[in-house]
Amino acid sequence: MKLKNLIAISLAAISIVSCSEKPQKYASYDDYPVYKGNDLGVTYSAESSTFKAWSPEAEEVRLNLYEDGVIGAPYATYDMKYDGEGVWKYTVKEDLIGKFFTFQIKQNDKWLGTTPGIWAKAVGCNGDRAAIIDWNSTNPEGWENDKRPEMKSFTDAIIYEVHMRDFTISPSSGSSFPGKFLGLSETGTKSPEGEKTGLDHLLDLGISHVQILPMYDYGSIDETKLNQNNYNWGYDPKNYNVPEGGYSTDPYAPNVRIYELKSMIQKLHSVGIRVIMDVVYNHTFVGAESHLNLMAPGYFYRMKSDSTWSNGSGCGNETASERPMMRQFIIESVKYWINEYHIDGFRFDLMGIHDIETMKTIRAAVDEIDPSISIHGEGWAGGECAIPESERAVKQNAPLFAPIAVFSDNIRDGLRGNWTEGDAGGFLAGKDLDETIKFGIVGATNHPQVDFTNIIHSNAPYATTPAQVINYVSCHDDPCIVDKLKATCPEATIDEIIKMDLLAQTIVFTSQGVPFIYAGEEVLRDKKMVHNSYNSPDSINEINWSNKAKYNNVYKFYRSLIQLRRCHPAFRMNSAESVAENLRFMESEPGIIAYTINAKECGDSWSKIMVILNRNKEPKNINLDGETWNVYLKDETFIVEEKQKVSNTITINPTTAIILYQE
Ligand code: CA
Repeated sequence: MKLKNLIAISLAAISIVSCSEKPQKYASYDDYPVYKGNDLGVTYSAESSTFKAWSPEAEEVRLNLYEDGVIGAPYATYDMKYDGEGVWKYTVKEDLIGKFFTFQIKQNDKWLGTTPGIWAKAVGCNGDRAAIIDWNSTNPEGWENDKRPEMKSFTDAIIYEVHMRDFTISPSSGSSFPGKFLGLSETGTKSPEGEKTGLDHLLDLGISHVQILPMYDYGSIDETKLNQNNYNWGYDPKNYNVPEGGYSTDPYAPNVRIYELKSMIQKLHSVGIRVIMDVVYNHTFVGAESHLNLMAPGYFYRMKSDSTWSNGSGCGNETASERPMMRQFIIESVKYWINEYHIDGFRFDLMGIHDIETMKTIRAAVDEIDPSISIHGEGWAGGECAIPESERAVKQNAPLFAPIAVFSDNIRDGLRGNWTEGDAGGFLAGKDLDETIKFGIVGATNHPQVDFTNIIHSNAPYATTPAQVINYVSCHDDPCIVDKLKATCPEATIDEIIKMDLLAQTIVFTSQGVPFIYAGEEVLRDKKMVHNSYNSPDSINEINWSNKAKYNNVYKFYRSLIQLRRCHPAFRMNSAESVAENLRFMESEPGIIAYTINAKECGDSWSKIMVILNRNKEPKNINLDGETWNVYLKDETFIVEEKQKVSNTITINPTTAIILYQE
């Protein structure tokens, strides 16, 4: 026994020494040491800066210091020392404020390209060098008092998906900061016709959340050539923990983009709007030369069995969230955006690429900060992934990662037609997808009156509560609703398109779940029939604010729908049981969906609500069983001020909705 103990002690001593002395080769990525500290990158003080980089298989690691964020050779280069747990360390005993740095590793006897590292929180123009900055200069006045607007339940949210550039780049926005962070928070702007634009418009509309297309530093736009008006959605991540330079007024000054994004968030918070960040941890802009891959080649990505890159994103690569350091990187990044930028929610791009365990761990980490911070994502991948679907955060697995929410492609394609079939219409075009629409109305929860064998894109309920599903008919992807309607109903006049559009959003806003609209649809924006407009010019993607005067009836209708939803909790139930008990579909002929909500039970000011939808091309009579109702919506008109009574029967016109209530 004694001898054994002695051997164990001496072995332990050897492993400690070898761990901090020299990195080794590992048989597999699973054997890589995991570093639990959160000080990777640089830790600055006026006296010294300590740099740390995790790169377990590197043979040597260099630290390069620069005077400038873009040009010139390093003014100093240091050999970093291995510090154990895969980490290389170097301390410079000078005040490095205002300097820039990169790491560079040697692996398999070859020096790879320089990288700011994956932990960079400030960078120079185009994000190739990390910056050492005075963080006090990034906080707008009063930042310490910035508060997240209150939100009791995620079903109270009304999400408005917006691209920084689309929103204000058109001269018709009247913005002083076209296409910039500051453009979204500017007040007092007007269209040429005198209609409110920008933030004033959002406040008048009544949305609760802006969901911003990628605003972290992405790679597809050359920040040195912003005057060339290049456009991209931004699903091509370069530096995950830094704002995009193209949205700042000065991409060369590393603190400016940070200050301006914080200012924007502060302003939105001050008027009661929460900010959801679109995050794209599932892939990087480039693979082999990405910052992730230049730190630890291969580790952060999934490879196929033949050692080629797996491409579940459809963009050339897919990250490996199940590996401990990738998982930790995502979690730390999400926490960083919450703590440093006060972000209120996250939309995970292609969440179906990530493993379930990672998503659950993220949710738990966010809960520790504030459970009201929302998380939702796309419950699918963009191609075949290198780990099984049963382990990934796809829509049908949603009960396993509740309460993280997923987008309902059911209600979207049920309404407008399948995304894979450009000119095939849906419910709006008169097609019998009634059961799919009913599935959308109950928020993808388990309801005794829905036939789950007869719905598109699913064969079972997947939302454990209505808060776990995002209802929408249109987003930045694919054609927007107006273009899809034009494609599926080529004979339709603009008035008929508007009718279908208003019916679509009436269904989105009265369905259980979380409603979501694509910016500009409230003024009938289109994308000139361009589906995948990710790098299309402004002329395709910009919101033309002159539309607001031109289609003012559309705008006012959207606003009324939002008011209806905000005032009536019956449309915002919080449990699947409540939906199953209080929402009753009525017997009806094909093409008519009619249901009542026992609103009183939902804490509503109305005791009972009836919603009737007609996809038929002719009017239909609905039997009201002798009861008397007040009309709230009929023929695209909201009757708010006076009372209009109806009893016995009501006639519903083609492609319209009726909403009735009893007090
Ligand atoms: Ca960039």
